[in-house]
Amino acid sequence: MAGVDVFRMNFSHGEHDEHRARHAAIRELERSTGRPVGIMMDLQGPKLRIGKFAEGPIELAIGDRFRLDLHDAPGDQERATLPHPEIFAALEPGADLLLDDGKVRLRVKSCGQKFADTEVVVAGPLSERKGVNVPGVVLPLSPLTEKDRRDLAFGLELGVDWVALSFVQRPEDIVEARGLIGEQAGILAKLEKPAAIERLEPIVDLADAVMVARGDLGVEMPAEDVPIQQRRIVQVARQAGKPVVVATQMLDSMMERPVPTRAEASDVATAVYEGADAVMLSGETAAGAYPVEAVTMMNRIVERVQDDPAYWDGLEAQNNDAKDTTPDAISAAVKVAADSINPAAIVTYTTSGSTAFRIARERPRYPIVSLTPRETTARRQTIVWGVHSRRTPDANSLEDMVEIAGHQARIDGIAGPGDRVIITAGVPFGAPGITNMLRIARIGMGG
Ligand code: PEP
Repeated sequence: MAGVDVFRMNFSHGEHDEHRARHAAIRELERSTGRPVGIMMDLQGPKLRIGKFAEGPIELAIGDRFRLDLHDAPGDQERATLPHPEIFAALEPGADLLLDDGKVRLRVKSCGQKFADTEVVVAGPLSERKGVNVPGVVLPLSPLTEKDRRDLAFGLELGVDWVALSFVQRPEDIVEARGLIGEQAGILAKLEKPAAIERLEPIVDLADAVMVARGDLGVEMPAEDVPIQQRRIVQVARQAGKPVVVATQMLDSMMERPVPTRAEASDVATAVYEGADAVMLSGETAAGAYPVEAVTMMNRIVERVQDDPAYWDGLEAQNNDAKDTTPDAISAAVKVAADSINPAAIVTYTTSGSTAFRIARERPRYPIVSLTPRETTARRQTIVWGVHSRRTPDANSLEDMVEIAGHQARIDGIAGPGDRVIITAGVPFGAPGITNMLRIARIGMGG
């Protein structure tokens, strides 16, 4: 494989049968490589769209009056259907509506429960079913539409490791999704609305991971604000120990060419320097002409940054105090011990995966080998920074633990006989519990 850890299945496109076939192909690939691969389902969320036009696309000029309403009749030069009563309920004069990814901007002059009369402030053509963004307004919408609920039931049945929620607006959206998903998959909140950025900390606390979804974020806020928010989101997620993914247009020109622009290479590198757990490709691998080249290139950029001592110094400078729990204290101690003995690897035993998340939060300079008896945990951890996730039998004793850790580190080529490794686990063994032990051992020599 060229370097993919997690595949995203985007439920804004495609039928269930197509997703089922892709899911089966990924699981087959996983079997052949012998290492866990994550699958994320990305729900479409409450994507708002206008209706159809009677006579094809229209052209809107600056200063034109244009009405949006709930009528079913096909649109024309004066009006279009916007079949979302929630928007009219939340709109106020002065609010802006962005159509077709912001290519057309309408300013609300007056509005009621079933209509909005607007003036065109950014002109352009408008065709049917184009998307509508309402940046400044929190809409009373569930984060899960009827379609999302059907897709979610299908995805959970199929077995996905992560569910990405689109257009999250408030912390309650995560709570609502958790009620349906429980612990069946990790919940990743896509941050693409200014309203979500305003409530960033509580959203990060409730979600299991977040994504800087720069595509829609760049529609809802000025482009020059996106890098500032990206940096802030990565920092807040890092502090909370939640994985953070930076997404969209990272190697966009590779849709058509086998090499990226220098600016794109720099964009990927910047996300890595900032401390992101993962960088994501979308159109490049979904519809581009050079999908393998794009993954290979992205992987090369990531590895190259990781060879730079300044990268590690930057991460070190971002590190923050451990939280006051036993597993957090052990994770912080692992970092200190690792910096003193330079181990070949840090090996964690984890049932839920939370220990690997915590150790990754410390951004140690040594590979983290995370061992778990649970297949779901092994797959879910693939999104986390620096973690080599492996499924192994649970250890029954301290000797057993050292033996399995050494065996796994050897087969991964991370450590050899005589190398030192730092091991964390929860004792007593066998029962899921909290990590409360740190041990330094030599591979092949028992202790
Ligand atoms: C984005 O908007 O950046 C994003 C990742 O979401 P989608 O691909 O669903 O537009």
